[in-house]
This record gives sequence, structure tokens and C-alpha cells, in this order.
Amino acid sequence: MSESNCDSISNSMMMTCFCGEMTHYFTSRTPLNPGRRVYRCYKSKLENCRFWRWEDSSPGNSSVEVNLLKSKLEVAMLKMENLKESLNAVKIEKDNLKKKLENLESLNYFEVSKSRNLEAKVSKLKMLCILSFTVFVVFVVAIFK
Ligand SMILES: [Zn+2]
Repeated sequence: MSESNCDSISNSMMMTCFCGEMTHYFTSRTPLNPGRRVYRCYKSKLENCRFWRWEDSSPGNSSVEVNLLKSKLEVAMLKMENLKESLNAVKIEKDNLKKKLENLESLNYFEVSKSRNLEAKVSKLKMLCILSFTVFVVFVVAIFK
């Protein structure tokens, strides 16, 4: 490969590829991964098993990044679950308050109609008092004429 140079196999850690052959130990010369050490299948590009493994675990190591992102995602999802539970609790509390308000409103309506009935009764009693007093006065006047 023109973009990698081949180090001697004796320098490399013992690593076999998928086809059971010893791997080549390269230093990458690509713009994205300059100087990174990589194990690759020894066979020619046409017949190799596509084995390819980075030696290091630098920040470019995708599995570490993926695991980090996965744990971050898990934390975010847990937070979201907690928020959902809080939201449900708030909704339940809102429903309870709504029911209480409705109860109070109906109770208030009941009290208002009760007091209206009482007012009506009181005014009837007043009318009755005035009427009986008038009858009494008329009666007294009739007697002492
Ligand atoms: Zn191979």
C-alpha cells in the first residue's frame, strides 16, 4: 500500500487475522490517522479477509467513543424517564386539584341556592308579620271605634 509503510513483523505483537495468518504491522500515513499503528491481513488486497485493527486506544478509537456516547445516551434517557414521571405526577396533581375545585364550585352553588331559599323564606315571614300586624291594627281600631 502506498499510504502505509510496512514494519518488520518481528516488531509487532503476535496477532492473527480471520484467516489464521500472521498480520502485517503498519504505520498509517492517511491524513485522518497519521502515525497510528495498525494490524492488517498479510494477504494481498484481493484475497485478504479484511482484518484491520488499530493498535492504540487513542481518542480516535471508535468503540471507546461509541461506549461513551452510549452511556451518555443512557443517562439522558434515564433523565427523560424521571422527567416523564415528574410530568405524570404533576398531571395527576392537576387532575386532583381540578376535581377539588369542581367539588368546591358545586358546594358553593349549593350554599348559594340554600341562602337564596333562606332569604326568600325570611322575606315571606316579613310579609306575614306585616300582614298580621296590619290585621291586628285593623282589628283593634274596629273594636275601639
Ligand atoms: Zn487474513
